[in-house]
Amino acid sequence: MVHSQQSQAFGNAKVSVCNSKTLLNKPTGFINAYDFTLNPYRGCQYGCSYCYAAAFSPNHQMQQDWGNWV
Ligand code: SF4
Repeated sequence: MVHSQQSQAFGNAKVSVCNSKTLLNKPTGFINAYDFTLNPYRGCQYGCSYCYAAAFSPNHQMQQDWGNWV
């Protein structure tokens, strides 16, 4: 469970600070030669039309709103 603690606007994006369950993750697939991966944030402020990362949003609404939240 991720809890939002605070948020503020950055351009058109809403930036929220959250507690993460984990910081380091074991990589899989084509990057499994590495020991760990680190994703210090999720979301994006740009929302490029060709972006595949939006598909990994936590829910459909956040996917539709890609580019407006970090
Ligand atoms: S919308 Fe996607 S491709 Fe564009 S900057 Fe953000 S993460 Fe990168």
